[in-house]
Amino acid sequence: MSNLVAPKAGEQYRVLAATTENLQRIQERWVGLKERVEHKMQALAGKSRAAEGRLVEQAARAASGSKRIFWLRKAADAMAATAGGLAACRQGCSHCCHIAVLVSRAEAQVIAKETGVALNPKAGKYTMHNASQGDATGAAKETFGKPCPFLRDQACSIYDSRPLTCRQLLNMDEDDLLCQLIEGSAPEVPYMNTLDHSVAAVAILGGHQDYDDIRNWFVSRAPT
Ligand code: SF4
Repeated sequence: MSNLVAPKAGEQYRVLAATTENLQRIQERWVGLKERVEHKMQALAGKSRAAEGRLVEQAARAASGSKRIFWLRKAADAMAATAGGLAACRQGCSHCCHIAVLVSRAEAQVIAKETGVALNPKAGKYTMHNASQGDATGAAKETFGKPCPFLRDQACSIYDSRPLTCRQLLNMDEDDLLCQLIEGSAPEVPYMNTLDHSVAAVAILGGHQDYDDIRNWFVSRAPT
């Protein structure tokens, strides 16, 4: 297995060229990947995840939107604490800060309040009813390789306030090779299935609201 391929602090993030060598490294990693990830998921199945369920229940009972988000964050963090040791994700890795990061209005409002960064009044172009697969593909292309406005020196500058999406993304491979962005191809990463957390967040925060990429919610915070 390769070492971390993400740039270190002080280095520039780079989308790699689609050279035969780069593509071959990615291709080779897929050999036996399914079995390796399944093995990890079996190990995870033996761990108790009851705390996550309790925290989601607390979110559902909370009296305000900000309190609901507080408990949903705790639930996502509990999930990451249980599964994180099996994942490839490490401090200083910022690949997933260079892809689409979908955030609900309820969350964006809380992040705006906590960070003091103004919300873009024109953001919120997706809803549960109007979003299509084409939108997802378009958003993925639009944000490919583009840093999140809160990324500073390859680290999250709003770590305690980061979106649920950022907390839920866990690459279950051995290192970050498959997260590496290669020109002209969407990364295929064996992320842990955290659909239960995503569905709970929609149910608790409300399916009626609008969503957008973090770069559109916070345009005033220009990436460096
Ligand atoms: S909010 Fe933080 S963790 Fe999430 S994409 Fe932006 S910089 Fe990365």
